Amino acid sequence: MNGPYDTVVVGGGQAGLAAAFHLRRAGLDFAVLDAQEQPGGAWGHMWDSLHLFSPAAYSSLPGRPMPVQPGQPYPEAAHAVRYLAEYEQRYDLPVRRPVTVGAVHRDGDLLRVESDSGSWFARTVISATGTWWRPFWPAVPGREIFTGRQLHTTGYRSPKDFADQRAVVVGGGNSGAQIAADLALAASAHGIEPTWATRRPPRFLPDDIDGRALFDAATARRRALEAGREDTGGVAALGDVVAVPPVRDARDRGLLEPRPMFTRLEPNGPVWSDGSRTAADAVIWATGFRPALAHLAPLSLRGTRGHIATEGTRALDEPRLHLLGYGDWTGPASATLIGVGRPARDAVREITALLG
Ligand code: FAD
Repeated sequence: MNGPYDTVVVGGGQAGLAAAFHLRRAGLDFAVLDAQEQPGGAWGHMWDSLHLFSPAAYSSLPGRPMPVQPGQPYPEAAHAVRYLAEYEQRYDLPVRRPVTVGAVHRDGDLLRVESDSGSWFARTVISATGTWWRPFWPAVPGREIFTGRQLHTTGYRSPKDFADQRAVVVGGGNSGAQIAADLALAASAHGIEPTWATRRPPRFLPDDIDGRALFDAATARRRALEAGREDTGGVAALGDVVAVPPVRDARDRGLLEPRPMFTRLEPNGPVWSDGSRTAADAVIWATGFRPALAHLAPLSLRGTRGHIATEGTRALDEPRLHLLGYGDWTGPASATLIGVGRPARDAVREITALLG
């Protein structure tokens, strides 16, 4: 038996670390349980060419600014991993790895966190398990009969893996646009024939808008709502796809022309709405993620759209549980490096008050 702790944090990516920073500051007794072998959460699993969509100064957790990566106005994912690893060390955060949490149960006055390294008892729990671990695969007819390779964003690494292949990228969000651009820019070097399929025409944000402006829009929205003013619409009102340099480059060279989503897959590839067919060797589903909440199932808290009903980060039906980092429903911009600090601070404030 481990504990009881004031708080057990499930997940040691950026959200878990932001929570740990504030728990440490508040002087609480806590542990962070993380399923990964290495620090960095999802950042260590993203594709080779991925860069952050904000400069380092706009990608920092509380307390310690992310250092600039020399020569890279938009840092690489590997830089984020190094930053998170250093962050853990600098604040001496008690992260246990690899520890996978299977379930959180109510156990009298405590919560019991069941893991592959035993039971951890806690007065409160912060769940910060992210979304990367629960990729969403849409129910497109024929997916099961397509004989080529199918992978999700989570399985994509590099254009080299598609040399001399016809690859169809599905999805009009940031991941879809970036993977389509990655393939398009490497197409002639590697003999790739890429196709990009989107349900709706992608809405590119203006070129001068990056993560900085997105964060400012999210902040303006929060302030408007807090002041009882009209909802500014925040980030979603601006568009969907950040025109990061490779996306802009591919688009400007005419290499990023999406086709309206195909209607079904056949063994050889997609069938388009006009009845035409494209042979394909691979389909890459850049179709998003859902919150990884399976470990919370025993608490029976499921709300709408796979989310748990929250007020701020606190689960409405279990005040000892906070959810952090999954998306705007756990705080504006809370699924970003710069945005998670504020809801983490608020969560720890509430926990401190609850623990008295
Ligand atoms: P994660 O990084 O996923 O960390 C969760 C941790 O919890 C992981 O270590 C995981 O192993 C662990 N875990 C999960 N389940 C369990 C369990 N049951 N038991 C124990 N541990 C568990 N944000 C930005 O600010 N800037 C960007 O440029 C940016 N680019 C992005 C690009 C892509 C392609 C994607 C997908 C997201 C991007 N984001 C960006 C959004 C966000 O910052 C990242 O997704 C980030 O990884 C989210 O951090 P997190 O801590 O919430 O989750």
